[in-house]
Amino acid sequence: MIIVTRSGISDDQLGDLVAHIERAGLRAHVSRGEQRTIVGCIGDERAIAEAGLSALPGVERTMPVMKPYKLASREFAVSHTQIRLDDADETVIGGQEIVVIGGPCSVEGREMLHETAHAVKAAGARMLRGGAFKPRSSPYAFQGLGEPALKLLAEVRAETGLPIVTEALDPRHVEMVAQYADVLQIGARNMQNYALLSEVGRTQRPVLLKRGLSGTITELLMSAEYIMAQGNSNVILCERGIRTYETATRNTLDIAAIPVLKGETHLPVFVDPSHAGGRASLVAPLAMAAIAAGADGLIIEVHPSPANARSDGDQSLEPSAFAALMKQAALFAHAAGRTIHAGATRHTVQV
Ligand code: PEP
Ligand code: MN
Repeated sequence: MIIVTRSGISDDQLGDLVAHIERAGLRAHVSRGEQRTIVGCIGDERAIAEAGLSALPGVERTMPVMKPYKLASREFAVSHTQIRLDDADETVIGGQEIVVIGGPCSVEGREMLHETAHAVKAAGARMLRGGAFKPRSSPYAFQGLGEPALKLLAEVRAETGLPIVTEALDPRHVEMVAQYADVLQIGARNMQNYALLSEVGRTQRPVLLKRGLSGTITELLMSAEYIMAQGNSNVILCERGIRTYETATRNTLDIAAIPVLKGETHLPVFVDPSHAGGRASLVAPLAMAAIAAGADGLIIEVHPSPANARSDGDQSLEPSAFAALMKQAALFAHAAGRTIHAGATRHTVQV
């Protein structure tokens, strides 16, 4: 249930309203806008109906939320969610700027991580990605370096100032990964691992939630709801391609999912063109399509020597190709009414 409050509701009235909701055994979620404040109310539907919310002082009207996702639904917030990683960092996820995350598929060692981090930063990336725990189709393939990789990521963050995005694969590792990561990644294969979703929901770290290989848009939003229901509302959705009958690409990038999600939810929507295309040559075109369709950010795999990468070399960009992509992305961002960070190499947008 959404409660639209009267404009000019006093803090006391708002406090009474929230207290009333909580006394009825329900949860209140306040979203303040410049014009209006709305209060989302979640819990047992009968208890909501019996709480007599529309008659309370300061309430203008109430509206049921018909969608199965509540906290994640567009109606539950007056404006799009913006996420800041920390007070010292100027990056705003879900704002005007298209935020780009670059880095290797997996952390393979100190040297390659340093080299990649400096290169992506110079090209304008705002965050560094790198897997310490890798979800691999084969149990015999490289599984990631584990905690030593997290330590390397922290070391490189200290050196470059780039916040870290890294995957948590197992609920038992969440606490440890959250000590190092600025953003916890939930991989496509784990989109419906509800124990893992709840566990990251109990942290206050922003979560990059990838769409499952066969996950519908509604299922993706329900997975975001699992995280948010635990109290963590900093969720970034990520379209990374779905499995279809097409075999020419690793996955099929569902471009339409971007505007659909932007209409359904207030959460930021990112796109991973690397895992969608599966080949380096497809990454830039898919990234441009994502920007044109309204993506709030991109996550891109970059490796200093893709041919020697221990995972996802085929789709990893060399640093020079990543820098070229960023230049092109600046033009598309401009056309879409957005900005992109230029890094050390200035992108001049000429129209
Ligand atoms: C990754 O980001 O390296 C990864 C494993 O992605 P996904 O979960 O989307 O396959
Ligand atoms: Mn990968």
